[in-house]
Amino acid sequence: MEIGFIGLGHMGFPMASRLLEAGHHVVAFDTSTEALDRLVMLGADPATSPADVGDRTATVLASLPSPAASIEVATGPNGVIAGAAAQRFVDFSTIGSPTAQEVGAALNQRGIASLDCPVSGGVSGAQEGALSLMVSGPEAEFRAVKPILDVLGKPIFVSTKPGAAQTMKLINNLMAATALAATAEVVVMGVKAGLDPSVVIDVLNASSGGTHASRDKFPRSVLPRTFDFGFATGLMVKDVRLCLAEAEALGMRMHLGDAVGMLWEDVLQKVGPDSDFTCVVKPIEEEAGVVVDGRAG
Ligand code: NAD
Repeated sequence: MEIGFIGLGHMGFPMASRLLEAGHHVVAFDTSTEALDRLVMLGADPATSPADVGDRTATVLASLPSPAASIEVATGPNGVIAGAAAQRFVDFSTIGSPTAQEVGAALNQRGIASLDCPVSGGVSGAQEGALSLMVSGPEAEFRAVKPILDVLGKPIFVSTKPGAAQTMKLINNLMAATALAATAEVVVMGVKAGLDPSVVIDVLNASSGGTHASRDKFPRSVLPRTFDFGFATGLMVKDVRLCLAEAEALGMRMHLGDAVGMLWEDVLQKVGPDSDFTCVVKPIEEEAGVVVDGRAG
Protein backbone atom coordinates (compact mmCIF):
# COMPACT_ATOMS: atom_id res chain seq x y z
CA MET A 1 0.00 0.00 0.00
CA GLU A 2 1.13 3.55 -0.73
CA ILE A 3 1.41 5.54 2.53
CA GLY A 4 2.49 9.10 3.35
CA PHE A 5 4.44 9.69 6.59
CA ILE A 6 5.29 13.11 8.04
CA GLY A 7 7.51 13.57 11.12
CA LEU A 8 10.36 11.08 11.44
CA GLY A 9 11.55 11.67 15.01
CA HIS A 10 11.96 9.32 17.98
CA MET A 11 8.56 7.73 17.23
CA GLY A 12 7.92 8.47 13.56
CA PHE A 13 11.19 7.01 12.29
CA PRO A 14 10.77 3.51 13.79
CA MET A 15 7.06 3.48 12.87
CA ALA A 16 7.78 4.41 9.23
CA SER A 17 10.65 1.89 9.17
CA ARG A 18 8.26 -0.89 10.23
CA LEU A 19 5.86 0.05 7.43
CA LEU A 20 8.71 -0.19 4.92
CA GLU A 21 9.76 -3.57 6.36
CA ALA A 22 6.16 -4.77 6.03
CA GLY A 23 6.36 -4.05 2.28
CA HIS A 24 4.49 -0.74 2.10
CA HIS A 25 5.65 2.04 -0.18
CA VAL A 26 6.27 5.13 1.99
CA VAL A 27 6.40 8.74 0.76
CA ALA A 28 7.98 10.69 3.61
CA PHE A 29 8.64 14.24 4.74
CA ASP A 30 10.38 15.88 7.69
CA THR A 31 11.66 19.44 8.08
CA SER A 32 14.95 17.84 9.16
CA THR A 33 16.77 16.64 6.04
CA GLU A 34 18.90 14.39 8.25
CA ALA A 35 15.79 12.56 9.51
CA LEU A 36 14.39 12.31 5.99
CA ASP A 37 17.66 11.02 4.53
CA ARG A 38 17.79 8.24 7.16
CA LEU A 39 14.41 6.90 6.02
CA VAL A 40 15.24 7.32 2.33
CA MET A 41 18.27 5.07 2.99
CA LEU A 42 15.76 2.39 4.07
CA GLY A 43 13.74 2.71 0.85
CA ALA A 44 11.29 5.60 1.37
CA ASP A 45 10.55 8.18 -1.34
CA PRO A 46 11.32 11.73 -0.20
CA ALA A 47 8.69 14.47 -0.52
CA THR A 48 9.32 18.21 -0.53
CA SER A 49 6.43 19.29 1.74
CA PRO A 50 3.28 17.97 3.46
CA ALA A 51 1.32 19.15 0.38
CA ASP A 52 3.63 17.05 -1.82
CA VAL A 53 2.91 14.00 0.39
CA GLY A 54 -0.82 14.74 0.02
CA ASP A 55 -0.41 15.03 -3.75
CA ARG A 56 1.10 11.56 -3.95
CA THR A 57 -0.72 9.45 -1.33
CA ALA A 58 -4.35 8.91 -0.23
CA THR A 59 -3.47 7.93 3.36
CA VAL A 60 -1.21 10.37 5.21
CA LEU A 61 0.16 9.55 8.67
CA ALA A 62 1.91 12.05 10.96
CA SER A 63 3.94 11.98 14.19
CA LEU A 64 4.69 15.56 15.20
CA PRO A 65 5.99 17.31 18.34
CA SER A 66 3.32 19.92 19.08
CA PRO A 67 -0.26 21.05 18.39
CA ALA A 68 1.17 23.92 16.27
CA ALA A 69 3.15 21.47 14.09
CA SER A 70 0.06 19.30 13.51
CA ILE A 71 -2.02 22.35 12.53
CA GLU A 72 0.68 23.54 10.12
CA VAL A 73 1.29 20.11 8.57
CA ALA A 74 -2.39 19.25 8.18
CA THR A 75 -4.02 22.57 7.34
CA GLY A 76 -1.26 25.13 6.68
CA PRO A 77 -0.77 26.74 3.25
CA ASN A 78 1.66 23.97 2.29
CA GLY A 79 -0.20 21.34 4.28
CA VAL A 80 -1.70 17.94 3.46
CA ILE A 81 -5.00 19.78 2.88
CA ALA A 82 -3.52 21.20 -0.34
CA GLY A 83 -2.67 17.72 -1.69
CA ALA A 84 -4.82 16.47 -4.59
CA ALA A 85 -4.66 12.77 -3.66
CA ALA A 86 -5.15 12.98 0.14
CA GLN A 87 -8.28 11.16 1.35
CA ARG A 88 -7.50 10.62 5.04
CA PHE A 89 -5.14 12.05 7.67
CA VAL A 90 -4.13 9.95 10.67
CA ASP A 91 -2.35 11.87 13.43
CA PHE A 92 -0.24 9.86 15.90
CA SER A 93 0.84 13.04 17.73
CA THR A 94 -0.39 13.99 21.21
CA ILE A 95 -2.06 17.36 20.59
CA GLY A 96 -5.15 17.46 22.84
CA SER A 97 -8.77 17.16 21.89
CA PRO A 98 -9.53 20.82 20.88
CA THR A 99 -6.66 20.89 18.33
CA ALA A 100 -7.63 17.47 16.96
CA GLN A 101 -11.21 18.69 16.49
CA GLU A 102 -10.02 21.91 14.83
CA VAL A 103 -7.73 20.05 12.42
CA GLY A 104 -10.39 17.40 11.69
CA ALA A 105 -13.08 20.01 10.92
CA ALA A 106 -10.79 21.92 8.52
CA LEU A 107 -9.81 18.72 6.69
CA ASN A 108 -13.42 17.48 6.52
CA GLN A 109 -14.42 20.71 4.76
CA ARG A 110 -12.05 19.74 1.95
CA GLY A 111 -13.36 16.15 1.85
CA ILE A 112 -10.40 14.67 3.76
CA ALA A 113 -11.31 12.35 6.64
CA SER A 114 -9.44 12.63 9.92
CA LEU A 115 -8.59 10.03 12.56
CA ASP A 116 -7.02 10.87 15.93
CA CYS A 117 -4.57 8.14 16.76
CA PRO A 118 -2.23 9.06 19.63
CA VAL A 119 0.05 6.22 20.69
CA SER A 120 1.65 4.84 23.83
CA GLY A 121 4.56 2.46 24.29
CA GLY A 122 7.58 4.68 23.66
CA VAL A 123 10.45 4.23 21.25
CA SER A 124 10.84 0.52 22.05
CA GLY A 125 7.13 -0.04 21.40
CA ALA A 126 7.49 1.77 18.06
CA GLN A 127 10.54 -0.32 17.13
CA GLU A 128 8.90 -3.61 18.07
CA GLY A 129 5.42 -2.93 16.65
CA ALA A 130 4.03 -3.07 20.17
CA LEU A 131 2.38 0.34 20.51
CA SER A 132 -1.03 0.92 21.96
CA LEU A 133 -2.87 3.02 19.33
CA MET A 134 -5.95 4.92 20.57
CA VAL A 135 -8.29 5.80 17.72
CA SER A 136 -11.28 8.11 17.39
CA GLY A 137 -13.17 9.23 14.29
CA PRO A 138 -15.31 7.60 11.59
CA GLU A 139 -15.45 3.82 12.01
CA ALA A 140 -15.23 3.17 8.25
CA GLU A 141 -11.94 5.10 8.16
CA PHE A 142 -10.68 3.08 11.13
CA ARG A 143 -11.45 -0.13 9.22
CA ALA A 144 -9.65 1.24 6.14
CA VAL A 145 -6.40 1.94 8.02
CA LYS A 146 -6.52 -0.95 10.52
CA PRO A 147 -4.15 -3.16 8.45
CA ILE A 148 -1.56 -0.33 8.64
CA LEU A 149 -2.10 0.20 12.37
CA ASP A 150 -1.77 -3.56 12.98
CA VAL A 151 1.85 -3.33 11.75
CA LEU A 152 2.55 -0.75 14.48
CA GLY A 153 0.86 -2.38 17.46
CA LYS A 154 -2.55 -2.82 19.00
CA PRO A 155 -5.24 -0.41 17.71
CA ILE A 156 -8.06 0.26 20.16
CA PHE A 157 -11.14 2.07 18.86
CA VAL A 158 -12.08 4.60 21.56
CA SER A 159 -15.04 6.49 20.09
CA THR A 160 -16.52 8.03 16.94
CA LYS A 161 -16.34 11.42 18.71
CA PRO A 162 -13.52 13.56 17.23
CA GLY A 163 -10.78 14.21 19.78
CA ALA A 164 -11.88 11.46 22.20
CA ALA A 165 -8.70 9.42 21.67
CA GLN A 166 -6.66 12.52 22.54
CA THR A 167 -8.45 12.81 25.88
CA MET A 168 -7.78 9.11 26.48
CA LYS A 169 -4.08 9.55 25.68
CA LEU A 170 -3.76 12.57 28.00
CA ILE A 171 -5.36 10.59 30.83
CA ASN A 172 -2.77 7.86 30.23
CA ASN A 173 0.12 10.31 30.13
CA LEU A 174 -0.89 12.16 33.31
CA MET A 175 -0.90 8.74 34.96
CA ALA A 176 2.56 7.95 33.52
CA ALA A 177 3.91 11.39 34.55
CA THR A 178 2.58 10.85 38.06
CA ALA A 179 4.04 7.34 38.39
CA LEU A 180 7.47 8.42 37.14
CA ALA A 181 7.65 11.46 39.43
CA ALA A 182 6.38 9.47 42.43
CA THR A 183 8.86 6.66 41.76
CA ALA A 184 11.70 9.19 41.49
CA GLU A 185 10.73 10.73 44.83
CA VAL A 186 10.48 7.44 46.76
CA VAL A 187 13.69 5.98 45.31
CA VAL A 188 15.60 9.16 46.24
CA MET A 189 14.11 8.85 49.73
CA GLY A 190 15.26 5.22 49.91
CA VAL A 191 18.81 6.17 48.89
CA LYS A 192 18.88 8.98 51.45
CA ALA A 193 17.87 6.41 54.07
CA GLY A 194 20.81 4.23 53.01
CA LEU A 195 19.02 1.70 50.77
CA ASP A 196 20.56 0.36 47.57
CA PRO A 197 18.49 1.86 44.66
CA SER A 198 18.59 -1.42 42.67
CA VAL A 199 17.16 -3.26 45.67
CA VAL A 200 14.46 -0.58 46.08
CA ILE A 201 13.43 -1.09 42.43
CA ASP A 202 13.52 -4.91 42.73
CA VAL A 203 11.30 -4.81 45.81
CA LEU A 204 8.83 -2.31 44.27
CA ASN A 205 8.58 -4.58 41.22
CA ALA A 206 7.80 -7.58 43.41
CA SER A 207 5.29 -5.59 45.49
CA SER A 208 2.23 -3.36 45.26
CA GLY A 209 4.23 -0.18 44.49
CA GLY A 210 5.51 -1.39 41.12
CA THR A 211 4.59 0.62 38.01
CA HIS A 212 5.82 0.98 34.44
CA ALA A 213 8.28 3.55 35.84
CA SER A 214 9.88 1.02 38.19
CA ARG A 215 9.63 -1.94 35.80
CA ASP A 216 10.99 -0.26 32.68
CA LYS A 217 12.09 3.39 32.98
CA PHE A 218 14.25 3.07 36.11
CA PRO A 219 16.09 -0.15 35.16
CA ARG A 220 16.72 1.03 31.60
CA SER A 221 17.53 4.72 31.98
CA VAL A 222 17.86 5.90 35.59
CA LEU A 223 19.78 3.19 37.49
CA PRO A 224 22.46 2.96 34.72
CA ARG A 225 22.46 6.83 34.54
CA THR A 226 22.00 6.77 30.75
CA PHE A 227 18.86 8.98 30.70
CA ASP A 228 18.06 7.82 27.18
CA PHE A 229 14.52 6.46 27.34
CA GLY A 230 13.56 8.49 24.23
CA PHE A 231 10.85 10.90 25.39
CA ALA A 232 11.77 14.55 25.92
CA THR A 233 10.92 16.43 29.14
CA GLY A 234 9.39 19.19 26.97
CA LEU A 235 6.96 16.66 25.44
CA MET A 236 6.02 15.26 28.87
CA VAL A 237 5.26 18.77 30.14
CA LYS A 238 3.24 19.50 26.95
CA ASP A 239 1.06 16.46 27.69
CA VAL A 240 0.59 17.29 31.39
CA ARG A 241 -0.39 20.87 30.47
CA LEU A 242 -2.82 19.63 27.79
CA CYS A 243 -4.41 17.18 30.25
CA LEU A 244 -4.84 19.77 33.00
CA ALA A 245 -6.31 22.23 30.46
CA GLU A 246 -8.88 19.60 29.39
CA ALA A 247 -9.76 18.89 33.03
CA GLU A 248 -10.21 22.62 33.64
CA ALA A 249 -12.44 22.92 30.57
CA LEU A 250 -14.56 20.12 32.07
CA GLY A 251 -14.83 22.16 35.29
CA MET A 252 -12.93 19.53 37.23
CA ARG A 253 -10.31 20.17 39.93
CA MET A 254 -7.35 17.77 39.69
CA HIS A 255 -5.84 17.85 43.19
CA LEU A 256 -3.10 15.32 42.48
CA GLY A 257 -2.73 16.37 38.82
CA ASP A 258 -2.08 20.00 39.83
CA ALA A 259 0.73 18.93 42.20
CA VAL A 260 2.25 16.69 39.51
CA GLY A 261 1.96 19.55 37.00
CA MET A 262 3.84 21.95 39.33
CA LEU A 263 6.59 19.37 39.88
CA TRP A 264 7.07 18.83 36.13
CA GLU A 265 7.10 22.61 35.45
CA ASP A 266 9.92 22.90 38.00
CA VAL A 267 11.78 19.96 36.42
CA LEU A 268 11.42 21.60 32.98
CA GLN A 269 13.06 24.79 34.30
CA LYS A 270 15.93 22.83 35.84
CA VAL A 271 16.77 20.17 33.22
CA GLY A 272 15.48 21.82 30.01
CA PRO A 273 12.95 20.71 27.36
CA ASP A 274 15.35 18.57 25.31
CA SER A 275 16.52 16.39 28.22
CA ASP A 276 15.10 12.87 28.53
CA PHE A 277 12.07 12.81 30.85
CA THR A 278 13.80 10.26 33.11
CA CYS A 279 15.91 13.28 34.22
CA VAL A 280 12.93 14.08 36.48
CA VAL A 281 14.97 12.36 39.22
CA LYS A 282 17.85 14.88 39.01
CA PRO A 283 16.31 17.95 40.75
CA ILE A 284 14.89 15.63 43.44
CA GLU A 285 18.35 14.10 43.97
CA GLU A 286 19.93 17.54 44.12
CA GLU A 287 17.52 18.75 46.76
CA ALA A 288 18.08 15.59 48.83
CA GLY A 289 21.86 15.61 48.31
CA VAL A 290 22.05 11.99 47.05
CA VAL A 291 22.39 10.22 43.67
CA VAL A 292 20.35 7.21 42.46
CA ASP A 293 23.17 5.17 40.95
CA GLY A 294 22.52 1.49 40.28
CA ARG A 295 25.76 0.76 38.40
CA ALA A 296 27.64 -0.65 41.38
CA GLY A 297 25.02 -3.37 41.94
P1 NAD B 1 10.47 14.18 18.05
O1 NAD B 1 10.69 15.60 18.42
O2 NAD B 1 11.55 13.19 18.27
O3 NAD B 1 10.06 14.07 16.49
C1 NAD B 1 9.26 15.00 15.82
C2 NAD B 1 9.70 15.04 14.35
O4 NAD B 1 8.82 15.93 13.65
C3 NAD B 1 11.13 15.58 14.16
O5 NAD B 1 11.85 14.72 13.29
C4 NAD B 1 10.93 16.97 13.55
O6 NAD B 1 11.97 17.36 12.68
C5 NAD B 1 9.61 16.75 12.80
N1 NAD B 1 8.87 17.99 12.55
C6 NAD B 1 8.64 19.02 13.41
N2 NAD B 1 7.88 19.97 12.82
C7 NAD B 1 7.62 19.51 11.55
C8 NAD B 1 6.88 20.03 10.46
N3 NAD B 1 6.27 21.22 10.54
N4 NAD B 1 6.85 19.31 9.31
C9 NAD B 1 7.48 18.10 9.22
N5 NAD B 1 8.19 17.55 10.22
C10 NAD B 1 8.25 18.25 11.38
O7 NAD B 1 9.13 13.75 18.81
P2 NAD B 1 8.69 12.24 19.20
O8 NAD B 1 9.28 11.90 20.52
O9 NAD B 1 8.89 11.36 18.03
O10 NAD B 1 7.13 12.49 19.45
C11 NAD B 1 6.23 12.72 18.39
C12 NAD B 1 4.82 12.73 18.94
O11 NAD B 1 4.54 11.46 19.55
C13 NAD B 1 4.62 13.79 20.04
O12 NAD B 1 3.33 14.33 19.91
C14 NAD B 1 4.78 12.99 21.32
O13 NAD B 1 4.09 13.60 22.40
C15 NAD B 1 4.18 11.66 20.91
N6 NAD B 1 4.70 10.50 21.65
C16 NAD B 1 6.04 10.34 21.87
C17 NAD B 1 6.49 9.21 22.56
C18 NAD B 1 7.96 8.99 22.85
O14 NAD B 1 8.27 8.07 23.64
N7 NAD B 1 8.89 9.72 22.24
C19 NAD B 1 5.57 8.25 23.00
C20 NAD B 1 4.22 8.43 22.73
C21 NAD B 1 3.79 9.56 22.05
